[in-house]
Amino acid sequence: MRLALFVVYVAAAVALVAIVPARTLHAESAAVVAVAGCLTTGLWTIPLLRRSMASVRGLAVLVVPPASAFALLITSTALHPGCWSGDGVILFLAFVPAACLFGGSAAYLAWSLCPKRAALLMCVFVGLSALASLVFDLGLHPQMYSYSHVFGGVLGPVYDAELAVRPGVFTYRLLTVLWSGLFVVVGRMGRERFSAPRATVVGAILLLIASCYVWRVPLGFNSSSQLIRESLGGNLQTENFDIWYPATAGSLSDSTLSAIAGRQEAELERISATLGATPGERISVYIYLDPSRRANLTGVRSTSVAPVWLNEPQIHLLASRHDSSFSHELVHVLAREFGAWPFNASWKLALVEGIAVALEASQPSPDLDDVVRLAAREFEMDPGSLARRMRSLLSPGGFWTARGAIAYSASGSFVSYLINQYDIDAFRRVYAGETFREAYSVDIESLISDWIEQVLSAPITADAARQDALLAAITRPSMFESACPHVP
Ligand SMILES: [Zn+2]
Repeated sequence: MRLALFVVYVAAAVALVAIVPARTLHAESAAVVAVAGCLTTGLWTIPLLRRSMASVRGLAVLVVPPASAFALLITSTALHPGCWSGDGVILFLAFVPAACLFGGSAAYLAWSLCPKRAALLMCVFVGLSALASLVFDLGLHPQMYSYSHVFGGVLGPVYDAELAVRPGVFTYRLLTVLWSGLFVVVGRMGRERFSAPRATVVGAILLLIASCYVWRVPLGFNSSSQLIRESLGGNLQTENFDIWYPATAGSLSDSTLSAIAGRQEAELERISATLGATPGERISVYIYLDPSRRANLTGVRSTSVAPVWLNEPQIHLLASRHDSSFSHELVHVLAREFGAWPFNASWKLALVEGIAVALEASQPSPDLDDVVRLAAREFEMDPGSLARRMRSLLSPGGFWTARGAIAYSASGSFVSYLINQYDIDAFRRVYAGETFREAYSVDIESLISDWIEQVLSAPITADAARQDALLAAITRPSMFESACPHVP
């Protein structure tokens, strides 16, 4: 057991040092410490229970590791000037103690049900809880945040620099306390004989937990389409879209709304013709004016999103980004029609973002190839290393950890090449899950090397000012390279 505790702590320490966003006190580091705290509290509690040493004093020692992590993170934050954030402290205090309580009580229940396999059972409880909350929150609700008893929570999309600290982050801990209480009382019932008062307590806690889930939207644990629509208030129905917008005074004028509606229908016609896909049903478009209000409703502040895995096709964006982002998100929505299970998208992330970038209205296509040429020149990359980079962008991990401008533009350039050189049907098939060899009768290595040869054989077309702008974008560090990603 000591070995298990040691492994968990070494892994957490490595994660804190190796993953840049986790180096300073904020949501990521709080989540890492919360997972480590949850597991180690559980793993530590079990041997104490076996030896009947689980006293309050015995468990008090468990405060030491999270407190040490807190001190380490405060020191690390102080060493990175400008990274200090009050939100970081608040999130740590919200995530970590609750996760430790959850791990300890899950361990008690596991030990009561099956003393010999208690550690394994506790890890299964904790793992299932973490997974279930993610699937329930993100898979069934139009929100980009998910709160967890185990890892504290994911507060919003990776591209939002300022995270959404909603009231639900804190009220959710009430649910953690209720589940923990239930584990302890049920565990006690399992070890001692049945008693009516204890059964009443179990019934009362279950009722409270059920009430929390029934009232999950007003309590701030989840968002619903109904809540967002009622909160926005304005609705305009066009031939293919249901547009929801703020109905408050000074919001979007009739002429602006009419221009938005016309643009949406025109983009739908253009992209549908290229992709050979029409929407199976009406598309809801949620337009927000105030980033803070939007963050409170959905967990997203400024990033435009199309959660394609949800049942209903939908797009969420700020009014100020409608003209630059709408067509990109609409491509994601239309690609749902041939996307793969379970996300209605491709597992190859470079294809998901590549097709959206290749077909978005605001993207002057020579820029995409120019970004690849500039990156090759700036970072002295030969065709072989460019090909390796492109291969890695096909996987989710490779895509999300790459610099945004390069990942999006290189994927867009590659997909532009594919849809210009080959039939769109081949792209639809590889997007749906076929291998490149099955869809194109050529393997991925050949496709990538032909693309690189074509791109690098042409000169950079952007003028000097545009080249400077593109260079500034591709040299901007990713969130994983930024010392303090959530502090402007
Ligand atoms: Zn996208």
